[in-house]
Amino acid sequence: MSGIYIHIPFCKSKCAYCDFFSVAILSQKSQYVDFLCKEMELQKNYLESENIETIYFGGGTPSLLSEYEIFSILNSVYKNFSVSQNAEITFEVNPEGLTLEYLKILKNFSINRLSVGVQSFFEEDLQFLRRSHSQNEAKIALQNAINSGFSNISVDLIYGLPNSDFEKFAKNLEIVFEFQIPHLSCYHLTFEENTLLFKQLREKKFSQISDQESWNIFEKMIILCESKSYEHYEISNFSLKNYISKHNFNYWQETKYLGLGAAAHSFNKISRQWNVQNIKKYFDSLSKSLIPCEIEFLTFENQYNEFLMTSLRTFLGINFDDLKLRFGEKLFNKFSQKIQKFIKNSEMKIADNKVFLTNKGKFVSDSIFAELFE
Ligand code: SF4
Repeated sequence: MSGIYIHIPFCKSKCAYCDFFSVAILSQKSQYVDFLCKEMELQKNYLESENIETIYFGGGTPSLLSEYEIFSILNSVYKNFSVSQNAEITFEVNPEGLTLEYLKILKNFSINRLSVGVQSFFEEDLQFLRRSHSQNEAKIALQNAINSGFSNISVDLIYGLPNSDFEKFAKNLEIVFEFQIPHLSCYHLTFEENTLLFKQLREKKFSQISDQESWNIFEKMIILCESKSYEHYEISNFSLKNYISKHNFNYWQETKYLGLGAAAHSFNKISRQWNVQNIKKYFDSLSKSLIPCEIEFLTFENQYNEFLMTSLRTFLGINFDDLKLRFGEKLFNKFSQKIQKFIKNSEMKIADNKVFLTNKGKFVSDSIFAELFE
């Protein structure tokens, strides 16, 4: 079982918080698709004929692809890989221009899951984040998706904007609940270097919300989502029963995946590799039939750290027997000692021979991982 991630690095314009690899040169799109198909031929043995259970179009903005471009990509996927009949095929879409006609095209290609980049239903937030859609377009997009017969829909929301609080964020959640959207990804706003918001923050054009307010929103968001029957199955993800993102969940289960396209990452349990984050270099390399990537072979420590981080992120937690069997008595004992502090601080809990992060632990997960890593 494995997955394929396809990176479409084109956007109409750059959002103020975004540090994903994307460019606004749409004229390169069709040539990019040709090279993407070429990369698939070169990488077709990476997953060793394993069945592909999930395909994920991420970006950038995959919904900028034309019908013919989607056809070319999927045609090449089916030609080069063995795709399961009931594979989960996710397509990231931006609300603007998500028309019934475009959704019909996606349906005809058997795309069966949509991830909609809403971020907020407040006009002032969308402007602050420099999103290219309006509050109304976001609602129309969700209604169009539902009317087109998509039932597996995910919505992305951002919380923790300056001057925000839980009461305001809860209004975003209520709209998602009204549409009966079965999957939600909620991310705290971060200020990454080389983004417009980072620059504006440095220029003191606004201030960040306090840690206390961030925690307040995080904790109450979990309580509210759980009260509506959403399972908090990963730090940033909530789903109704049977709507977990299989593709993303496989990442956290250390399933193999192949990432195609500029800046895409791949993992095959032995190594990680990542493609060059530059469209010209991506084209140049593939025009010489060379895969444009760097490879890192995973050491024993890398594998241990990876196991801890991916397992603790999800509701499955770490099974003590699995840990001991895979990494040995010595690391197991060390881990068991280190987690005592987090259990005492109510950041971790033990149940059924497993250890999990509590909500408090999820909130500070990065610092917990840093202390546990070898
Ligand atoms: S649409 Fe998404 S990928 Fe594109 S700039 Fe905005 S946040 Fe980044």
